[in-house]
Amino acid sequence: MFEYFGNITKVRTEIERYRNRLERAYQAILGESFEKVRDSSSRLLVNCDEPSKVGGALINFNNSYFGVGFEFDRELHISQKGVIGQNHARLFPYMHISQESIKRAAAHKQNNGLPKHLVPYLHEYNHFVLFCLQNSPDFLAGIIAVVEANRGSPTNRTNSSRSSNPKQLKWARIYACHKVVAEATQDFLMSLVYHQLGLDPRHAIRPCFLESLASFGIVDAKSLLDFNKSWNYRVPAFDKFQSNFLRSLENITVAKEQMPNSGKGDNNFSFNRQQNGGQQ
Ligand SMILES: [Zn+2]
Repeated sequence: MFEYFGNITKVRTEIERYRNRLERAYQAILGESFEKVRDSSSRLLVNCDEPSKVGGALINFNNSYFGVGFEFDRELHISQKGVIGQNHARLFPYMHISQESIKRAAAHKQNNGLPKHLVPYLHEYNHFVLFCLQNSPDFLAGIIAVVEANRGSPTNRTNSSRSSNPKQLKWARIYACHKVVAEATQDFLMSLVYHQLGLDPRHAIRPCFLESLASFGIVDAKSLLDFNKSWNYRVPAFDKFQSNFLRSLENITVAKEQMPNSGKGDNNFSFNRQQNGGQQ
């Protein structure tokens, strides 16, 4: 648990200093799910400081990052009504912690009494924890939204809801839905961690997510974990397309796997193939 393979020594020493306290905190929060997270953590997390191995074109390595590489067994098919056809996906989680983000977080006094190198790490680790416990990860919804928004329009990529193209707007909304679920639940998990560590949890939740958390019915550890598992049924959908899409995510059988290390500097991920394909 709390694996870190990056090259920032202080992240490692601060994890070690807090390791026992953190394990107790997550055990108290996660209850019977703790074992699953601990096992998944040692099985899945790998070093990802090398952009070439994780689809670097899309990653700003000045930011700390939890992300998911992916491979689908065949071309995705999504109906006009938003229903995803039967499919399988392999998902490869990865984390990156950047020195710049550590400085930024410290400057904004977001540490609430925790050491400054530990905070960005725990933020990304919390994304991983929540990902582990989802049958249909919200990151998968985010990936599909990016793939679909970019399909057939190589020069007109979008991840912005400002887009006026209706097709892209539809996918931008789904991407935004994933982001709100991911960040709001992360904030709440972080507040529980602070609480368990005997620190002030109030600032862990960004004000912009308070309303979402209330609408998700998240008030304690149990409601957080319940929501996280069935988020795609519980998040308010923008329209019928979105609600069909979110519900049919369960049509995709997900295998969470350790990201294969190509060791050659090239990479084998669909994410990159999609991107490269789009630029031809
Ligand atoms: Zn985040």
